[in-house]
Amino acid sequence: MTKPIKIEKVAVIGAGTLGAQIAMVATSSGYDVTVSDPTAGAFDTMIDKLHADYKDKGVNPSIPLDQWAETRKKIKQTQNNDDAASDADLTVEAVPENLELKRKIWKQLGQAAPAHAIMTTNSSSIPVSHLEEASGRPERVLNTHFYMPLEGMNMADLMGGSKTIPDVFETGESWLLSMGILPLKVKKELMGFCFNRVWHAVKRECLYMWGNDFVDLRDVDRAWMMAFGHHGGQGPFGSMDHVGLDVVWDIEMSYYNGEGKDPKVHPPKALKEKIDRGELGVKSGKGFYTYPDPEYMSADFLDPNAED
Ligand code: NAD
Repeated sequence: MTKPIKIEKVAVIGAGTLGAQIAMVATSSGYDVTVSDPTAGAFDTMIDKLHADYKDKGVNPSIPLDQWAETRKKIKQTQNNDDAASDADLTVEAVPENLELKRKIWKQLGQAAPAHAIMTTNSSSIPVSHLEEASGRPERVLNTHFYMPLEGMNMADLMGGSKTIPDVFETGESWLLSMGILPLKVKKELMGFCFNRVWHAVKRECLYMWGNDFVDLRDVDRAWMMAFGHHGGQGPFGSMDHVGLDVVWDIEMSYYNGEGKDPKVHPPKALKEKIDRGELGVKSGKGFYTYPDPEYMSADFLDPNAED
């Protein structure tokens, strides 16, 4: 018999693109949140950047822009993961997509967090079963994979590890729902979880066609936008620029390594070359497109008579 788990204090480990957003959304839903990042001021820098981006683009985020100052003031910041985890009921790890780094942090958090605490990872590709032993509490772990919640992508893949108990899964589900996040429940372990696996399949095909010079990437994005429209007004290549091409590479390599090293799953060499040239997407000003005014934002991008 296990007791229901009450979540009040949340530690977010890693205050980058996703960690900073998760911290804001959890805080605005009434949780007592601490963020931890080794880089001093990482949280403030990220929130300033997101705030400016949304303001410039006229995006209406899930927390109205005029409420950000009040929300962020409530968030405690530290550079010490142990301090953040020491009284947490739930930890969300959102550090870079690197298995060894995550295992190291999970071991540290497992030792620092109270015995009742649930540990989750925001990893885009690593099933939590690969981290559960490091946690020292394999029955209390979850994948909670968020999708840019401040941009209004109010959903998260939810998946347990090999020993996760039902109470923990249900607590994770309630926690997500309490923040207005739709849980995409995965019933048994699957690389890529629910929607993220669909997105992986899209990325894999797009990168294959571009990396082997079959198509102009703009035609893929145009077709996508015409067929489906797209949140944020871009196609798959534009979306990869937003995620960061280095992050995309790491995620695609995790699938490759996690799926029997099938050469068809390996991202193309051309993507690595772009990353080595510093073309990382929106954050470096150049990726598949150039920023701040990418071609897909221009009025004539979807005009079939537009010049190449
Ligand atoms: P990011 O690079 O923007 O942020 C990572 C943060 O972790 C950085 O601020 C870094 O300083 C910090 N960090 C590094 N080492 C640390 C340590 N030892 N302890 C605490 N913090 C540490 O990365 P991101 O895009 O936010 O991705 C984080 C995780 O979320 C990854 O697992 C990624 O797969 C996943 N994710 C990313 C996206 C996306 O669109 N970027 C979407 C969903 C999930």
